[in-house]
Amino acid sequence: MGSGGLVVLDDRDCIVDISRFFTSFMQEESCGKCTFCRIGTRRMLEILDRICEGKGRPGDLELLEELGDRICRTSLCGLGQTAPNPVLTGLRYFREEFEIHLNEKRCPAGRCPALITYQINDACIGCTLCAQACPVDAIPFKPYEKHTIDDSLCTRCGMCLEACQDNAVEVV
Ligand code: SF4
Ligand code: SF4
Ligand code: SF4
Repeated sequence: MGSGGLVVLDDRDCIVDISRFFTSFMQEESCGKCTFCRIGTRRMLEILDRICEGKGRPGDLELLEELGDRICRTSLCGLGQTAPNPVLTGLRYFREEFEIHLNEKRCPAGRCPALITYQINDACIGCTLCAQACPVDAIPFKPYEKHTIDDSLCTRCGMCLEACQDNAVEVV
């Protein structure tokens, strides 16, 4: 993926979010001399941001491809010439994941905060570990009772998921 580095991912990684991360890095590194590298990568990042926030628009994927192609062809140095590669290769091999974000407003890997919610299921034994782990007190402390998450407070940090030893915390 990208300019030749080897990145190992699994099904818990979101390809859209990863593409956004690399695009953000390239955008920051652009020296600004070439218009497409300077502004094109910024436009690509804006599109990826809105797709990850569930605000993607019809035609966004085609726009990403068009912008990426032009940035590759019109940039002076290797940075701009390879900057769109994470998105372009992501779209080539994992297009379905982009389409799910865009059309169903869903993140299959459960990584994009705006597209997921944390819930507690009936496997909860009321051990309180999740309530102790939550940094924003979104889980009321109720020993021996099924716990619940206040979605309005939850920041999607994932600490409760890590803390629970009974598979009672789910990302949906
Ligand atoms: S392609 Fe290279 S020279 Fe052109 S703006 Fe990007 S970093 Fe600068
Ligand atoms: S850590 Fe798991 S089992 Fe314990 S209270 Fe939280 S959800 Fe329930
Ligand atoms: S994801 Fe984080 S903020 Fe949300 S309930 Fe779990 S621990 Fe609290």
